[in-house]
Amino acid sequence: MSAADTESYAFSADINQLLSLIINTFYSNKEIFLRELISNASDALDKIRYQSLTDSSVLDTEPELQIKLTADKANNTLTIEDSGIGMTKVDLVNNLGTIAKSGTKAFMEALSAGADISMIGQFGVGFYSAYLVADKVEVTSKHNDDDAHVWSSEAGGSFTVVKAEDPGFNRGTRIVLHLKEDMSEYLEEKRVKELVKKHSEFIGFPIKLYTEKTTEKEVTDDEDDDEEDADDDDKPKVEEVDDEEDAKKEKKTKKIKEVSHEWEHLNNTKPIWMRKPDDVSQDEYVAFYKSVSNDWEEHAAVKHFSVEGQLEFRAILFTPKRAPFDMFDGGSKKKHNHIKLYVRRVFIMDNCEDILPEWLQFVRGIVDSEDLPLNISRETLQQNKILRVIKKNLVKKCIEMFNDLTENEDAYKKFYEAFSKNLKLGIHEDSTNRAKIAKLLRYHSTKSGEEMTSLDDYVGRMDDKQPGIYYVTGESKRAVETSPFLERLKKKGYEVLFMVDPIDEYAVQQLKEFEGKKLISATKEGLEIEEDEDEKKAFEEAKTKAESLCKLMKEVLDDKVEKVVVSSRLADSPCVLVTGEYGWTANMERIMKAQALRDATQSSYMSSKKTMEINPQNSIIVALREKAEADQSDKTVKDLIWLLYDTSLLTSGFSLDEPATFASRIHRLVKLGLSIDDDGADGDDDEMDDLPPLDGDDENEESAMEQVD
Ligand code: ADP
Repeated sequence: MSAADTESYAFSADINQLLSLIINTFYSNKEIFLRELISNASDALDKIRYQSLTDSSVLDTEPELQIKLTADKANNTLTIEDSGIGMTKVDLVNNLGTIAKSGTKAFMEALSAGADISMIGQFGVGFYSAYLVADKVEVTSKHNDDDAHVWSSEAGGSFTVVKAEDPGFNRGTRIVLHLKEDMSEYLEEKRVKELVKKHSEFIGFPIKLYTEKTTEKEVTDDEDDDEEDADDDDKPKVEEVDDEEDAKKEKKTKKIKEVSHEWEHLNNTKPIWMRKPDDVSQDEYVAFYKSVSNDWEEHAAVKHFSVEGQLEFRAILFTPKRAPFDMFDGGSKKKHNHIKLYVRRVFIMDNCEDILPEWLQFVRGIVDSEDLPLNISRETLQQNKILRVIKKNLVKKCIEMFNDLTENEDAYKKFYEAFSKNLKLGIHEDSTNRAKIAKLLRYHSTKSGEEMTSLDDYVGRMDDKQPGIYYVTGESKRAVETSPFLERLKKKGYEVLFMVDPIDEYAVQQLKEFEGKKLISATKEGLEIEEDEDEKKAFEEAKTKAESLCKLMKEVLDDKVEKVVVSSRLADSPCVLVTGEYGWTANMERIMKAQALRDATQSSYMSSKKTMEINPQNSIIVALREKAEADQSDKTVKDLIWLLYDTSLLTSGFSLDEPATFASRIHRLVKLGLSIDDDGADGDDDEMDDLPPLDGDDENEESAMEQVD
């Protein structure tokens, strides 16, 4: 092969950066490279086996599916070879260097945030871990659709690809690692065996190591060469008669060392899920979890079970400790999950879309069905009845697994931190299991202090009179804690849940009730709070008086509010803005505004219809009413109504429509407080130019300014 046929390529910038990080970062746990490369080999084998289910001829090039490891001390190389699907020339160029994946950047960010290099597999760039131990890597690959090619790189920004004349195998990939000087430990049989045992025990294909066996063999002299025989003849005879027989024998045989090579099978290929749960140790589950998940940490929970009867399958499900980095990535991506589907021990596919619902996409594991056909495709799987039953069972078992976790408070807290969004998505999506998932929810509340409370505990604390479970949605715990909407509820001693995750808004719309108790929003219309007789009477009186003020306020605020009504919701504040029972809350409006790319038409009709609720017993409202009754056209009454509206927007969790107008009204009040006369030549007038006119006095204001000029 002439040098002219060798093509040179530059690594993509991201990958280049990743490579120098891998090469230059001081990192002692280098051994993980082997796990990553074996895992890639196993994936490639899975792919060809899957193809063979519909076209068995793809295996003709090499029927045996296996991974072979060879350590060559003379050349200082470690070779990992698989008979998997292989890579075409284009695959080599794309997969190993030019097409950067989202995981590349994400992994580097994670590293600088303190993550560990051993996490590399989770980010889908495991191949590059080869450079932890090698300064040069050669990848020879043969795909059924192409000739064999060799990819080669010493990092440093570029790699080459050249056609391989005779790769020495008919299908698959061979990776030769030219080990760095101080990496010779990976040439030791013992070390390689130990690593396979530790990280790759549960790979579903045989992993074989080329080993040297030295056997001592006794050979009779006859079998040996003639020269030695001749020497022996010259030896003196043994004298003692008793030992004569033995001595004779000794004379005729001798031990020699015989060196042979063999492929030693290193991993246990009986699938772990075929064993009884009682026979599997915790360590074995950890090892298996790591091999199916690429996770560097152990799992948080496991559920290993089998279902028998009309339909038969086995499964092992794991809850990881943390969410994967791309769990809620953009939303545009096809929903995927991390369950590997097997049919009668044969791997069928990863990311089988319909095996778990979206909210459970963080759960990892395997399912092995006895009933599905081997040649099932992704497309037909979607309509498959067996799969639907499997899915139902898996969801049930997942919920059981989470329930088991609740028994350990600390473990559950961590789980909840990582996956509460998923549970809430589950509430939103999964009507069948909604009630069960609701039991897993935890919220802060007006009574929960630092800890969070479950809905069960909340209900346990409720007294009989309380009409339902109160909640308030908002931006943060701090913001809702002091919300005016809670004033009366708190006074009555009713507990209110704080729902401060955007997804709570969606979840609670579906949840509606828990254990027969209605969920009641503290910020929506129609909140009725029971009162005793005296309270009721005083309230009714104030209410009647305030009716005319309501009318006036509606006239002033016009279409800013649907209506203005008297309410018993408030204890201290003068007024709040509540939203319709079926419209968006203020919090939802905030969330929707934050989603910049949303279709604007939806917001116009979903956007909250606000009702202003006033507290007829509040001193501001009482005084305002009196002022209005004295003079309906009093300009300050209008200003004050607008100010109350604006401040209610803020305290009720909305944003101001026109902050400048609001500011100008406040400034006007400030001036009043400071006894500044607007008409006076106090040098402030330029500033006044910028302020929008106050309600109804546009002309006056302008003429006043002109006079000064
Ligand atoms: P990941 O395997 O997580 O996708 P890697 O960086 O380890 O990320 O590998 C990149 C890609 O290179 C793989 O997705 C696969 O397409 C290809 N690849 C790597 N190793 C092999 C192999 N032994 N046989 C076939 N293809 C491979």
